Amino acid sequence: MSDSLPAIQEHTDLTPYNTLHVTAKAKKFVSVQSEQQLQSLLKNYDGTLPLFVLGGGSNVLFINDFNGLILHIAILGKEVIKEDENYIWLKVGAGENWHETVRYCVEKGWGGIENLSLIPGTVGAAPIQNIGAYGVELDEVFESLAAVELKSVSSRIFYKKDCEFAYRDSVFKQELKGQFAVTSVTLKLSKYPVLNTSYGAIQQKLDEKEITAPSIRDISDIVIEIRNSKLPDPAELGNAGSFFKNPVIGNEKFESLKSEYPSAPGYPMDDNQTKVPAGWLIEQAGWKGKVTGSVGTYRQQALVIVNHGGASGEEIWQLAEKIQQSVDEMFDIKLVPEVNIVG
Ligand SMILES: Cc1cc2nc3c(=O)[nH]c(=O)nc-3n(C[C@H](O)[C@H](O)[C@H](O)COP(=O)(O)OP(=O)(O)OC[C@H]3O[C@@H](n4cnc5c(N)ncnc54)[C@H](O)[C@@H]3O)c2cc1C
Repeated sequence: MSDSLPAIQEHTDLTPYNTLHVTAKAKKFVSVQSEQQLQSLLKNYDGTLPLFVLGGGSNVLFINDFNGLILHIAILGKEVIKEDENYIWLKVGAGENWHETVRYCVEKGWGGIENLSLIPGTVGAAPIQNIGAYGVELDEVFESLAAVELKSVSSRIFYKKDCEFAYRDSVFKQELKGQFAVTSVTLKLSKYPVLNTSYGAIQQKLDEKEITAPSIRDISDIVIEIRNSKLPDPAELGNAGSFFKNPVIGNEKFESLKSEYPSAPGYPMDDNQTKVPAGWLIEQAGWKGKVTGSVGTYRQQALVIVNHGGASGEEIWQLAEKIQQSVDEMFDIKLVPEVNIVG
């Protein structure tokens, strides 16, 4: 029964629950399959141990064992809750797999998230860092989310304006960090999709394949193809995607970077700022493909830290800190982890 209290496990091995394949243990672990289950569990919880909400574990680094209770969100379900001539409002359980949800929408012909194909993880985690790829971010199709406040056990709906979405950021990584468990997300998808092919590599593939009038399925297939050629598959090589966010620096600073390194790439943002690819900075600092013990950066993309097998969370974090330090020394730029560090 999805409403009865789920069993709490003890000393759970988290290796299968994080894509960096770090062997850490959780003092307590529970998988919840419905909002009711989550609420009953929280109401009965004595609050002595810290809580951590976990989805697919594709954006977390457990530095140590977690001395608390992991709430693994496994709430499933998809439902069209509203529809008009142009749009579909699809409510999706937080535990649904993100990529499967994208493909479901692509098959139905509902556009808006095709560029976000193959991003690992769950639907409930997608708003936490406002997932983005290939010129599209979640906030463009986000309508609302339902969440439970862990402390008060009260339910709350967050609309777009409440979420403070920004580049790989939201209120859930800032003021409300660790305070809510998302139980469902509602997406507003288009029946007449406007395709986003602004990202160079997508257009290049379309040209190669001589596709002149692409469908959302074409875009999704191409994104999958590009990603498979560029990023390591976590099932084969432990990783959490981009380990750091791309730093955004003032234009003046970017100009001085450019004068010293004419090949420095940068993407202009609003407010006189430029986004610099963290992968380029890390590569310049000599870390691309470098392996130390069981950890290293991916040979094709320095921004991805990989576990070659058996690395501890601490080893991974030590490498991340060394990378931060050398980029800071070389460029006076501070890299901020995109991955959520636990411990
Ligand atoms: C190979 C690879 C490629 C990637 N590419 C991209 C990319 O292109 N773009 C991108 O944006 N990200 C990318 N990522 C990062 C990751 O896939 C996303 O951040 C994803 O949304 C994480 O989902 P998850 O369920 O695994 O979250 P988890 O790793 O389980 O959790 C991430 C954070 O969200 C919180 N959280 C998880 N679920 C919930 C919930 N239900 N309620 C409240 N908080 C929750 C956790 O507490 C944690 O702080 C990539 C990762 C990998 C491994």
